[in-house]
Amino acid sequence: MALKILSGLDVSKHVYSLLKKRISLLKSKKIVPGLAAILVGNNPASRIYVRSKTKRFKDLGLHSTTINVEESISEKKLIKIILELNNDTNFNGILVQLPLPNHIDLNNIISSINPKKDVDGFHPENAGLLSIGKPRYIPCTPKGIIKLLEYYDISLKNKHVVVVGRSNLVGRPISILTSSQGKMLNGTTTICHSGTKNLSSFTKTADILISAIGITEFFSSKDIKKDSILIDVGINKIESKNPKGYKIVGDFKWDSISQVASMATPVPGGVGPMTIAMLVENTVFSAENF
Ligand code: NAD
Repeated sequence: MALKILSGLDVSKHVYSLLKKRISLLKSKKIVPGLAAILVGNNPASRIYVRSKTKRFKDLGLHSTTINVEESISEKKLIKIILELNNDTNFNGILVQLPLPNHIDLNNIISSINPKKDVDGFHPENAGLLSIGKPRYIPCTPKGIIKLLEYYDISLKNKHVVVVGRSNLVGRPISILTSSQGKMLNGTTTICHSGTKNLSSFTKTADILISAIGITEFFSSKDIKKDSILIDVGINKIESKNPKGYKIVGDFKWDSISQVASMATPVPGGVGPMTIAMLVENTVFSAENF
């Protein structure tokens, strides 16, 4: 059976077409959803991520701004900027692009964002609401994965979902979602991580395998079950002979897994576009509700 591609590009276009109606309604009430992105330092990947997020807002006629600050900024100064944005009615959403420099405590920064403007869904209040089954904002990547599965009518009921990775951004929240009650959810979920021994004994039992480890082409056909569905969150940069000198690949070795899996998200063009679409959706939700 030929591998079916689960295209985040296609699904994100569908999401934007639905969002356009909600955005028009807000604009008729003179509300333009706005996002403030804070970029600390000059990490090239972070710059690209922030640019592609804010560009999407502009393309949809939404308001967005990027606040660039020096790598050496103190935690206190960074928190002051966030507190000002919390009170700025032009912005419904605030995001701080990660990673942050080592001298800054990530938890202090995330906790200083008004949880009602925390469109990334990382604030402890929002993480807690998600874990008790009453989500306000769901982190964009996990939310995007669930939307993608729903779009392709992939139900998790009676399926074994294996998540590899336990970060607060991706692995942990996606495992909460896949195991939650819900029409398309209810998956029996196993979470694996860097402390898991004999990892492939778990991944080989997955009907749906979600990898968020960020290691180039880590999984191949020998690690997966026949006809499984693969969701590749990894973004890994490798050298290439193309004009850019590099290309982006995922955690799965595509040529190898495509012989065994039934469906998979490509990298690029899979989970990435869904993440940005969910950021827009969370910001529109904020403008509608708060
Ligand atoms: P992270 O470094 O915080 O977490 C990686 C996780 O992988 C850890 O929990 C660790 O336990 C696990 N891990 C590492 N090595 C392992 C191994 N050998 N075996 C089993 N588990 C292992 O990273 P993150 O922020 O969760 O991101 C993961 C990847 O997803 C990165 O490549 C990141 O760039 C990418 N990402 C993509 C998107 C997107 O929109 N596509 C969004 C966020 C993150």
